[in-house]
Amino acid sequence: TPLLKIRGLSASYGAVRALRGVDLDVADNEFFALLGPSGCGKSTLLRSLAGFEDPSDGTVTLGGADLLALPAHKRPVNMMFQSYALFPHLSVEKNIGYGPSRAGLAKSEVAARVAEVIRTVGLEGLGGRRPSQLSGGQRQRVALARAIVNQPRLLLLDEPLSALDRNVRAQMQLELKRLQHEVGIAFVVVTHDQEEALSMADRVAVMNDGEVLQVASPEELYRNP
Ligand code: ADP
Ligand code: ADP
Repeated sequence: TPLLKIRGLSASYGAVRALRGVDLDVADNEFFALLGPSGCGKSTLLRSLAGFEDPSDGTVTLGGADLLALPAHKRPVNMMFQSYALFPHLSVEKNIGYGPSRAGLAKSEVAARVAEVIRTVGLEGLGGRRPSQLSGGQRQRVALARAIVNQPRLLLLDEPLSALDRNVRAQMQLELKRLQHEVGIAFVVVTHDQEEALSMADRVAVMNDGEVLQVASPEELYRNP
């Protein structure tokens, strides 16, 4: 059975129907991409899963449990934003440990978890730096570390590479794919870049105007675009 099961999901902003009955399955540990032009509903879908948007219709289960019944902060789902939203005045370690500290974890437990995710994302030796002392790719790894430190089952990434220079982006596509494998949780990544979706994802959902037109592997899409 799939980790994430979306059925008939619909959402509107006033008269704008942003999602029109979306059905999707995402497997555990899968790198899943949502591909489509600006305005097709990708962000609305992500925000509905994260709990920042209230869909008008449909069901979503995560690991068999009703996701939509849970408030955002109780969902085992995290979102990584375009801008990364790192605290500029805090070190890498403090940026990553901020959430667990606020959640009331003991200092020793926070330190252990921070050290572990720093290893996972390959930021060893950089824990004392501030975001301004890091490269774009390193900042992205901090954002990723912060998004996985509380051990979600699903990570949502909204245009994760769009803040990076064009020449770093191709390299980071492979890097993100490798990190997803390392982290071992399902990723749902939003992008409007077909090349990016095809180079990273295990499967791609092609969206247009609030609907999913097709779900296919990159191989299938190359053969049958
Ligand atoms: P995408 O992420 O694919 O660019 P969105 O989910 O942001 O698409 O938008 C889907 C549709 O909903 C678009 O027509 C967009 O203009 C509209 N929309 C998104 N957010 C809002 C909002 N807060 N208020 C009104 N309309 C919105
Ligand atoms: P994206 O397409 O990457 O989601 P946008 O620039 O379209 O980014 O949207 C940025 C913000 O504006 C989002 O929070 C979205 O909900 C909101 N938004 C998007 N479209 C509209 C709209 N037509 N009316 C009001 N708010 C909108």
